[in-house]
Amino acid sequence: MKTNIKPFKKPIYVTRPFMPPLDEFCQGLEEIWGNKWLTNNGPVLQRYTKKMRDFLDVENITMFNNGTLALQIGLQGLGISGEVITTPFSFVATTHALHWNKIRPVFCDIEPDHYTLDPEKVEAAVTPWTTAILAVHVFGYPCNLDVLADIARRHNLKLIYDAAHAFGVKIDGKSIAQYGDLNMFSFHATKLYHSQEGGMLIIPNPSLKTEEEYLKNIVFKSEVEVVMPGTNAKMNEMQALMGLTMLKYVPQLIEKRRAITKLYREQLQSVPGIHLPPLPSDEVDYNYAYFPIEIDEREFGVGRDQLYEKLKEYNIFTRRYFYPLICDFACYRNVPVADPLETARGVAEQILALPIYYDLEFEDVERICDILLQINMHNRLT
Ligand SMILES: *Cc1c(COP(=O)(O)O)cnc(C)c1O
Repeated sequence: MKTNIKPFKKPIYVTRPFMPPLDEFCQGLEEIWGNKWLTNNGPVLQRYTKKMRDFLDVENITMFNNGTLALQIGLQGLGISGEVITTPFSFVATTHALHWNKIRPVFCDIEPDHYTLDPEKVEAAVTPWTTAILAVHVFGYPCNLDVLADIARRHNLKLIYDAAHAFGVKIDGKSIAQYGDLNMFSFHATKLYHSQEGGMLIIPNPSLKTEEEYLKNIVFKSEVEVVMPGTNAKMNEMQALMGLTMLKYVPQLIEKRRAITKLYREQLQSVPGIHLPPLPSDEVDYNYAYFPIEIDEREFGVGRDQLYEKLKEYNIFTRRYFYPLICDFACYRNVPVADPLETARGVAEQILALPIYYDLEFEDVERICDILLQINMHNRLT
């Protein structure tokens, strides 16, 4: 074992955005400068939307300026009200989107392997007021799609996916965007694929097309007609240009992350107290968006929070995704929770997301693993 490994000279963050070649972006800027069309469904956005349709093989796509507003408006467009069953183990925006629609979140427990909603618990949480399930493909791990669809069908609920982490994920060769009644994707700079900021709604079922039209025209149905209280969440031409320029790099971004994941897993699989979630099953083309691990304090020697602090001393900035649980934030603490959320609570105490991004060097991954090993050895022996 290597001893006394030095801290990184430059900080290593949990993620860094991929920047496409500047000249490709500048070509697009010249076009935008030329036609002076900056927003309101401009030509770049139109081209981008069409490209995305082909990329995902879906018909109904609407672009937004961010994922949070996409989800919020999507819920409004589908007329969701009452109670919605959702996960406490996600980025807080998932629940914010419910709050702004005056919907009561019903927090439900997750399953221990991939941290997605536990279908049995979902079924148990259905009440006469439930109108929808809002599930999250957390870390890009697909939810239990078939079982959730069956529950939604039997109880006449809408099935909505926060797919913010799941861009590029496929099941049996089919895009994950083709499941459920509504899918939200986020193109925030911290995501695997980004448009600086951005969001997208996909309505897989063509019979819901009317709602889609409402969403598109959330401000004006025509110049003189306003059909419902709307807002402004349009994607502009610069965002669309970034998204469009980035799209062809997606396979490359996923491949690099796959290789980083493989290296991490090889190096960390036998470290005592580090639990690696299993990779998704064979029919899933995973996107390797995140690299979460769980730290068992007793076996590892130090707890997750201590490790998180210690890694900072080495200039490594990990993230405790997702801790605290959404239901423990001050603004949602008063929401009654029937379920003890045992699994979610356990995972939130142990989870740690390690750095993973396109420009991360393999030797840096090895060094991060050596540092983890060093911390483990040192603390187990003392
Ligand atoms: C990033 C994220 C969002 C919000 O997307 P923004 O584009 O940042 O508004 C929603 N849900 C999850 C799970 C996310 O990770």
